[in-house]
Amino acid sequence: PFDVLIVGGGPAGAAAAVYAARKGIRTGIASERFGGQVLDTLGIENFVSVKETEGPKFALALEEHVRHYDVDIMNLQRAKALVPGKDLVEVRLESGASLKAKTVILSTGARWRNVNVPGENEFKNKGVAYCPHCDGPLYKGKRVAVIGGGNSGVEAAIDLAGIVKHVTLVEFDTKLRADEVLQRKLRSLANVTVIMNAQTTEITGTDKVNGLTYKDRSSGEEHRVELEGVFVQIGLVPNTEWLKGALELSRHGEIVVDERGQTSVPGVFAAGDATTVPFKQIIIAAGDGAKAALGAFDHLIRTSAP
Ligand code: FAD
Repeated sequence: PFDVLIVGGGPAGAAAAVYAARKGIRTGIASERFGGQVLDTLGIENFVSVKETEGPKFALALEEHVRHYDVDIMNLQRAKALVPGKDLVEVRLESGASLKAKTVILSTGARWRNVNVPGENEFKNKGVAYCPHCDGPLYKGKRVAVIGGGNSGVEAAIDLAGIVKHVTLVEFDTKLRADEVLQRKLRSLANVTVIMNAQTTEITGTDKVNGLTYKDRSSGEEHRVELEGVFVQIGLVPNTEWLKGALELSRHGEIVVDERGQTSVPGVFAAGDATTVPFKQIIIAAGDGAKAALGAFDHLIRTSAP
């Protein structure tokens, strides 16, 4: 069996693998797509000490760093079940294989919910964005829309209003769902327009985004807003469907972890976007992966026979 088996090969999983392997313990990492969300990212400018890089290049660097150590890398493997046992935890893969480990680190990340309108896919990284902390500065002085009026949408609009020229917040419902304190802050901003009861119908553009169309849900009329960027903020979904029932998840489906990355199951740790850790960012996921690996190592030296 593995001493540490990591499930998920994004920044969190890669950092966990490096930290575990450096302890000289038997380490494996199984993932569907090594690199994770970073593979879908164009520019990365906020991983401190790396002024500027590109997603695929960063993903390759993650894998190279892990390969530098004695780690069993199992790519293109999707986990389908976690089965805690008395001494060993079992991870079952879609391929039919079963892996056993003394400790497991779950780092299966998350995915942004799409609005699924024409233009969204076509203009990803060309005006359609999902992460205001990451891409906000690219729209300095420009006009953007935020789709979604929950906490993340309203937070994004407030954040972006400080950088861009104008923000249009588009909400499907007749009211915003964000906390009142955020709504109050939003209403106090002069360069934000809120449009409610509006269904986004298309994101338009040529080589990059030039506008958004929406339907007024009460009149049925179509309207168009000219802008350079659209931030989709209708939810980040953790990749934890396969863990339901096996350990404690939050009501948003995030794996509940303590300050050492320990989950509700002894010997099972978790890190990164799949967990309750606030703020989903590369540098945070990587730090979290390191922490979970040290948590797992600490667990091993306390529970394993010498
Ligand atoms: P992920 O990167 O999501 O990795 C999850 C891993 O788990 C993947 O290897 C995946 O294949 C695997 N996996 C999932 N389910 C299973 C399963 N059942 N079995 C096996 N493996 C599985 N952050 C920044 O800090 N700066 C940026 O500029 C930035 N830009 C971004 C741009 C875009 C378009 C997106 C989508 C995100 C961006 N982010 C950015 C956020 C950042 O990518 C994430 O916070 C980070 O990748 C999270 O790392 P993670 O390891 O927790 O999860």
